[in-house]
Amino acid sequence: MFKLIPQPIKIFTDKSVTGFVLTDNTTVSAFDFSDDLIVFVKKVLHKEIKASNGDCLISLIIDDNFKYDEGYSLKCENNKVNIVSKTENGLFYGIQTLKQMLLQSGGNIPYTEIFDFPRFAYRGYMLDCGRYFYSVNDIKRIIELIALHKINILHWHLTEDQGWRIEIKKYPLLTEKGSVRSHTNFNRKSHGGFYTQEEIKEVVEYCHKHKIKVIPEFDVPGHNVAAIACYPYLSCFERSLEVATHWGVKRDILCAGKESTYGFVYDVLDEIMELFPDKIIHIGGDEAFKERWKICPHCQKAIKENNLHDENDLQMFFMSKVNDYLASKGYSSLMWGNDTEGGTDNLSSKIAWTIYKPHCNDEMIKKELERGRKLINSKNKTFYLDFPYGWTSLSDVCNSDGALTEKDEDTYGVEACMWTEYVPDMKKLEFMTFPRLGAIAENAWSPKNSSNFMDKVKDYCKLLDAYEVRYAPLNKANPSFIYKHFSSIWFKRRVFHWERIHIHFDNKKVKKLSKNYDK
Ligand SMILES: [Zn+2]
Repeated sequence: MFKLIPQPIKIFTDKSVTGFVLTDNTTVSAFDFSDDLIVFVKKVLHKEIKASNGDCLISLIIDDNFKYDEGYSLKCENNKVNIVSKTENGLFYGIQTLKQMLLQSGGNIPYTEIFDFPRFAYRGYMLDCGRYFYSVNDIKRIIELIALHKINILHWHLTEDQGWRIEIKKYPLLTEKGSVRSHTNFNRKSHGGFYTQEEIKEVVEYCHKHKIKVIPEFDVPGHNVAAIACYPYLSCFERSLEVATHWGVKRDILCAGKESTYGFVYDVLDEIMELFPDKIIHIGGDEAFKERWKICPHCQKAIKENNLHDENDLQMFFMSKVNDYLASKGYSSLMWGNDTEGGTDNLSSKIAWTIYKPHCNDEMIKKELERGRKLINSKNKTFYLDFPYGWTSLSDVCNSDGALTEKDEDTYGVEACMWTEYVPDMKKLEFMTFPRLGAIAENAWSPKNSSNFMDKVKDYCKLLDAYEVRYAPLNKANPSFIYKHFSSIWFKRRVFHWERIHIHFDNKKVKKLSKNYDK
């Protein structure tokens, strides 16, 4: 009878037996996340339940013998609800399931037994705050909504060509200057914003309360025009640039041949590590074009001195060096995978990959798995939430699977990605994220083909309604052929700009500059 998202492993309901009726006298075991249920019940069922340290009608029980770390069991019988897990995370997920049961039953739940644990350990949501700044309150709302889906990772993209968002005390210009772009794709108004270190701590704490780990991203060596605009010495030819205003892959990246670049990267990481206690950092590694490195004396010297093949190899060396630095402090790292055209012989296998390009083939995956690399599936065709519904409809997401190979254990997890260049505010973000995130969450948590999301989508939308989510209506989430066609053309307008012409002439300028560059 219940239509739950994500689908639990096992559920048994006997409608003829009353399991539990929620009243104003209901109590729930006191944990720091109990108010998640209390607030929901008040809003949806208009009942005032309380948290208590004594015997409760909704008991949350930690049991060290429970087999699965994030799993839980839930039983409604004799007018009691017992949720049992090995960890607080499991209890929190039990509450998320209970919320949907209360909503669908109006607070009168028949006898039910549930046993549940996740398919993948890593269930992520990536938020790009580099293109558009989202306030702390916006982010808190996103955290509440993804927690509802049993997502356990917020991958927080904090540095970009178009804006530097995290306060770094040693380099104050990064936020004074690097956090503002003079205009955007949409208008001539400037856009900016950044998070103070205190605000970052507030977000991390809020995530932890919702059983979500936070992985900050400091993207290197590409996507650093905002940093170079503040500190030109970070680039190959000490170029004087402005914070990028438009979308597109920029050619000026961090110089991989100068010690001063590594000094900067390590200093920034030192402050980041202080703020993010979950011990994982995403170090980017994507879309690092090598035009500058090819003609930079520092980069060429680094290639020779370290017996590297070429510029691609230099990038692998760069990423590994940054990973080693983090490892020396007890942190592990992630990078965007399969931007490694030159091979991965010089890339530490300790760096996990978020795979985003769909062409990452079976052979590549097999090779990296043999090396011991952890792989996360963020292939854009399925997991990029900024793609219009005309490109990736809700049905497309439902029909895709999160596993990268035939065996689930080869895939560390899945991650939904919200790039924001064309998503400037919460209204658009919610429209693009939901209802697709429901199908992705099911992909991340539930066994393959264990239920049909589309059969449950109406109940799922009622859950979203309870949270006042501005999701895409089903006719737009699964668009008609004509709508699909036009939304695709509208989205592709982003390639119609002067970027390529600009790059052509700018490359010529830098070539000239390099001839007179004497360092
Ligand atoms: Zn260089």
